[in-house]
Amino acid sequence: MSEATETRGFQTEAKKLLKLMINSLYSNREIFLRELISNASDAIDKLRFEALNDTGLLGSDPNFEIKIEFDKDTQTLAIVDNGIGMSREEVIDNLGTIAKSGTEEFFEHLTGDQQKDAALIGQFGVGFYSAFIVADDVEVLTCRAGLTQGTRWTSAGEDEFTVETVDDLPRGTRVVLSLKDDAAEFADGFRLRSIVRQYSDHIAVPVVMDKEGDEEGTETVNEAKALWTRSRSDVGEDEYKEFYKHVSHDFDEPLTWSHNRVEGKLEYTSLLYIPKRAPFDLWNRDVPRGLKLYVQRVFIMDDADQFLPLYLRFVRGVVDSNDLPLNVSREILQQDESTRSIKNALTKRVLDTLAKLDADDYGAFWDEFGQVLKEGVGEDFGNQEPLLKLMRFASTADPLDQQRTSLASYVERMQEGQDKIYYIIGESLSAVRQSPHLEVFKKRGIEVLLLVDRIDEWFMSFANEFDSKSFQDASRGELNLEDDEPENEADESVDEPLLERIQGALGERVASVRRSKRLTDSPACLVLNEEDMGAQMRRILEATGQEVPETKPHLEVNADHPLIRHLDTEPDEDRFNDLACVVFDQANLAEGNTITSPGEYVQRVNRILVELLH
Ligand code: ADP
Repeated sequence: MSEATETRGFQTEAKKLLKLMINSLYSNREIFLRELISNASDAIDKLRFEALNDTGLLGSDPNFEIKIEFDKDTQTLAIVDNGIGMSREEVIDNLGTIAKSGTEEFFEHLTGDQQKDAALIGQFGVGFYSAFIVADDVEVLTCRAGLTQGTRWTSAGEDEFTVETVDDLPRGTRVVLSLKDDAAEFADGFRLRSIVRQYSDHIAVPVVMDKEGDEEGTETVNEAKALWTRSRSDVGEDEYKEFYKHVSHDFDEPLTWSHNRVEGKLEYTSLLYIPKRAPFDLWNRDVPRGLKLYVQRVFIMDDADQFLPLYLRFVRGVVDSNDLPLNVSREILQQDESTRSIKNALTKRVLDTLAKLDADDYGAFWDEFGQVLKEGVGEDFGNQEPLLKLMRFASTADPLDQQRTSLASYVERMQEGQDKIYYIIGESLSAVRQSPHLEVFKKRGIEVLLLVDRIDEWFMSFANEFDSKSFQDASRGELNLEDDEPENEADESVDEPLLERIQGALGERVASVRRSKRLTDSPACLVLNEEDMGAQMRRILEATGQEVPETKPHLEVNADHPLIRHLDTEPDEDRFNDLACVVFDQANLAEGNTITSPGEYVQRVNRILVELLH
């Protein structure tokens, strides 16, 4: 009855994943059943959806179920569903390769340490291949709804698999596992029932098994009710966690979740999860993601991204609407008024959920997702206030190099008369903590937030104010700290002629040379105008090949510094030039900038050193 048998090699990545999985997930191997049941349930969801427009697809078998069969004697186990099934081509694509986004990054992240890798594999999604943790041989018999010919796929999970076309298969998929000797325990009714209840209770489709003992017939083993339709008080923590694993394909538990039913003008239920860890492809904004959309409990689509803004792309879960039509498409969602309202409400819900996390959990969240959340400050002005509340920064008031300072705690510590929230942007915390721009703040005991993420200059340019306090980049503009001390004598002694003389030496390289109110220890620093583009943004734009307008810094000099005082009395023009240029280049270095002519800088320093040594 079979024809066109062919043997094919697994895609290299699939082979690698298979090996890794078998080795590192051994101690948690009963999860294979969850994965196979999850696939079966997805397949049934897909068929139920396709059948909305084509009831013929259901034929004479309209009642969906997942059946688990086992045979102790032959040590086999089968997971059978009457879902959508797969065509021959789909079998080859789905069960021979890994087509998932992030595959490449995933392999790059592997360490060889079994425990760490197991967590990574879990996060990547184990899926169908987990069958090989417990089986020597796997056979898949599948027939796509609407087709008459089916496909038989077999593999021992090593290098290759075979596919052949088979007639007379029922609709759906039967996955048959020949259990390894050390996995014979899974051919046992009691064990299987307990695993199904533990991992697959929330699956909305009945999972049935033959009754035990001499009794005839089958019985449903799981709760078989869509979890989000149950009331919160009826759902246990573990059930929520297992459901998360089902919708997200994550192996880890979620950090937190929020389950809500909304009634009134709009009626919908949402169950939103915040993952513990960021996916590898979090930064690829084009990867499909979003919520699972149901309409009146019928699965409509995966990755419905119309219900949350892009900056919340890490949120997983389900939204089930009573208002949308069953034939809703992505295009319709895009324009739909109720979708927009749900989106606004879900966005607030997520921000709220985050705000309620305790400090430890929120810290863990921030380390994983903080940078994505910053996108929101620039993209979602309506929610800027709650978003700013969620921001965390490193700070001069916190010696730890972690981002744990909130704006609210900054404001609490503000000094009397201080009306601005000061921050500084740089390449790294170690660089920024040494910045000359912080000197005056240290002296006055004013806290400065330290911003070192790539996105910081961009997102701070959108941040308006927090708690009626405006934001001020500590390295920009004329600094007018309240309660400035009366300018001291030394300041007065730096007079215009010296500033002009330095300006003359530096020429076009600086916008101006002026006295600084920022410095206590350094001789000089560079200052940009408020509206100038900063170094970070410049680097990002340059890296994308864009033309970046030139900005000239102001050189601010510290009148109290011996070097500047010496300059004032330096009679030799050449030596004055060398010193002025060295001061300027060093100010660049302190800023984390590269200097335009390192060779010249070295020559100047050496000339000065040689004179010193004579
Ligand atoms: P994932 O479920 O994360 O996509 P899997 O490796 O588990 O990854 O499965 C790969 C694909 O194989 C699925 O996306 C689905 O298209 C198909 N598939 C797996 N099991 C079934 C099944 N029981 N019925 C129909 N298709 C299935």
